[in-house]
Amino acid sequence: MRSAGKEGIVSAKIVVKNPLVEMDGDEMARIIWHLIKERLIEPFVDADIRYFDLGIKHRDETDDRVTVDAANAIKEFGIGVKCATITPNAARVTEYQLKRQWNSPNATIRAILDGTIFRKPIIIKNIPPAVRTWKKPIIIGRHAYADIYKSAELLVETPGRAELVYIPEGGGEQKVIKIHDFKSRGVIMGIYNTEPSIRSFARACISYALSEKVDLWFGAKDTISKQYHGFFRDIFGQEVQKVQDAFRKLSIQYRYLLIDDAVAQIMKSEGGMLWACMNYDGDVMSDMVATGFGSLGLMSSVLVSPDGKYAFEAAHGTVVRHYYEHLKGHPTSTNPIASIFAWTGALAKRGEFDGTPEVVKFAERIERAVVETAEKGVLTKDLMLIAEPGVEKFACTEEFIDAVAERLRKTISR
Ligand code: NAP
Ligand code: MG
Repeated sequence: MRSAGKEGIVSAKIVVKNPLVEMDGDEMARIIWHLIKERLIEPFVDADIRYFDLGIKHRDETDDRVTVDAANAIKEFGIGVKCATITPNAARVTEYQLKRQWNSPNATIRAILDGTIFRKPIIIKNIPPAVRTWKKPIIIGRHAYADIYKSAELLVETPGRAELVYIPEGGGEQKVIKIHDFKSRGVIMGIYNTEPSIRSFARACISYALSEKVDLWFGAKDTISKQYHGFFRDIFGQEVQKVQDAFRKLSIQYRYLLIDDAVAQIMKSEGGMLWACMNYDGDVMSDMVATGFGSLGLMSSVLVSPDGKYAFEAAHGTVVRHYYEHLKGHPTSTNPIASIFAWTGALAKRGEFDGTPEVVKFAERIERAVVETAEKGVLTKDLMLIAEPGVEKFACTEEFIDAVAERLRKTISR
């Protein structure tokens, strides 16, 4: 709903031209979400928000229809902002008395948008990264489709021959390749990927590298896996070829590297690139990079579709332990920074799409207020533990958000 006419603290609100899709979530993340909306967004911004409640109860009531509706709304309006949600396991089904073990909302939305998820750390001066040379964000894009995550595996118990067989649909010549003649016990795994999925991944990476104006790196092991990894390398190369002019205009580059070289180069780089990873590499490397930049509370995440739709969120989950403390009435110190950056990411992209630079500027203002608040030593507990120089005490969730709001108001009245 547009909030124009509501009693606002700031007289002239920034008007957002086109709709923004908001997806609410669960537990502590939901508590933070509402605080952010109430104290940092609604008093300053007049936006047509299309609200979808992806909280587990409402997903259950709607037989998860709400998740599909939200994804379709992102398709329609182009920009979404999402709170962390519970992906139910058996224990959660009991805890929340669910009808079913619903799928992960992120997986549903990603499938509908054919999107790629990128993780981007937020840099704060007094939170030094584990790797001294890292000064700018390292954005990781993971091709979250197939490879070993959709493999067929077989335990070999007796000596024998393993073969790879391809049977073309509707007849035609079968292809058979020997994998190995087993003399002992062993294991076999069959994996695959598809050209449309790799192409969509490459295009999403290109689209986000252009949007962030950073170099695009892709690493694989094509010296060993000439067909499989070579296929990925070639498709990436072809897709990048199509956008050469756009890359040149922004003075950004595409680099293909052997995966081991990519890892080595990342460790001595100052950051500032988008690293496109095959599925397993992305799984492993995103955890390494996230830890290297400090806290999960500083990791933002964005889903980008090949045709340039965006859904922003924090990389962390619903922060259950803090939620249980909150339910007991204890104050928590949960880091809201990544959730705030989900909102600012969405607002800035909306402003860019709509041609409303004042919206982009306002989003940047909120981000600056967050970073400055943290750099002045107002930090949640997760950050206090790793801050340099150290601080005496940590701020509670609400204290931190209020400190940001106060700083934001000061920059506006200046
Ligand atoms: P999590 O919610 O990210 O929390 C794991 C731990 O990391 C927390 O217990 C906390 O450590 C720390 N942490 C994470 N975010 C923090 C923040 N903002 N501020 C301070 N500390 C933070 O992961 P999880 O416990 O594995 O998952 C919980 C639920 O979230 C699950 O139901 C899962 O399905 C869901 N999930 C959703 C998403 C999503 O929607 N994108 C992503 C991941 C997980 P301490 O307890 O030591 O303080
Ligand atoms: Mg992982």
